[in-house]
Amino acid sequence: MTSAAGLDRGLLVAGDHVLVRAEGFTFVNEVRRRLFARLDQAVTDQRAGQMRRLLVRVNAIASHDRTEAEDGIVARATGYFNSLDHPTRKAMEEAASAERAATETVGRVRGLLRILRRYDAYSHETRSRVEELLRAAAAAEDRLTAGQTREVALWKKRFDDGAPLPPSPLHKQVARRHWIQRTCPHCHAGLGKDCVLAEGTRAGKVRQFPHDERLQPIVDERKARQTATPRPWRVYDLTCPDCGVGYNSPCESPAGPHRTRVELAKEYSRQHKPPPTK
Ligand SMILES: [Zn+2]
Ligand SMILES: [Zn+2]
Repeated sequence: MTSAAGLDRGLLVAGDHVLVRAEGFTFVNEVRRRLFARLDQAVTDQRAGQMRRLLVRVNAIASHDRTEAEDGIVARATGYFNSLDHPTRKAMEEAASAERAATETVGRVRGLLRILRRYDAYSHETRSRVEELLRAAAAAEDRLTAGQTREVALWKKRFDDGAPLPPSPLHKQVARRHWIQRTCPHCHAGLGKDCVLAEGTRAGKVRQFPHDERLQPIVDERKARQTATPRPWRVYDLTCPDCGVGYNSPCESPAGPHRTRVELAKEYSRQHKPPPTK
């Protein structure tokens, strides 16, 4: 067998092009060296669970061209593992299966975060994914990377701070022709411009829907108008200035209501005066 150091030296003298490959080899060799060292230590410490996990990795990435020393470590670990009684091995298999499940959970977190990077808010579009993310992240416990933990924390904050979601998405309640005439207070998109993602790795890219902050005022104004504007006056709601007949009585004129009565009803409607409720 070739010594790793000798192989590296041979490549290093062959020029810069090979130097990069040599560094690659050095890295792989270093990973491999550490893996066997950890396995060796696990055998010495008789830590069966760790041993089993490391054996799986050793067989996956270093099944060929082992040195005698490496073969020795694997043989010791395998021997130890096979010497364990049935209940111990069963417990270990269970631990390993729990470990596999945890690894899958971490994978799910990674996948969800990748998708969620296209969004910048907790919304109808992101709700189910965010909820799943928070569950998966809680199950993954301390197995997430620092970066993943930060991203999860950001979604947790958006989830906690967000107003309760409206019964239906706001973008379905307000047509484009309405919101496009406003600026967005969240991403500062100008008149006639689409909203853009306000934060995250895709910040500045056009957003699928306008921000709720841009839509909410329009919905609120609509609601306010509906409650604030009284119904228009009917002609018979008021006393006729001309013939003096009162509420709900027709004018004493064969041609219909007097013009002044009609005009006054219009005027009261324009002034949003509340008509009589009797
Ligand atoms: Zn916006
Ligand atoms: Zn009249």
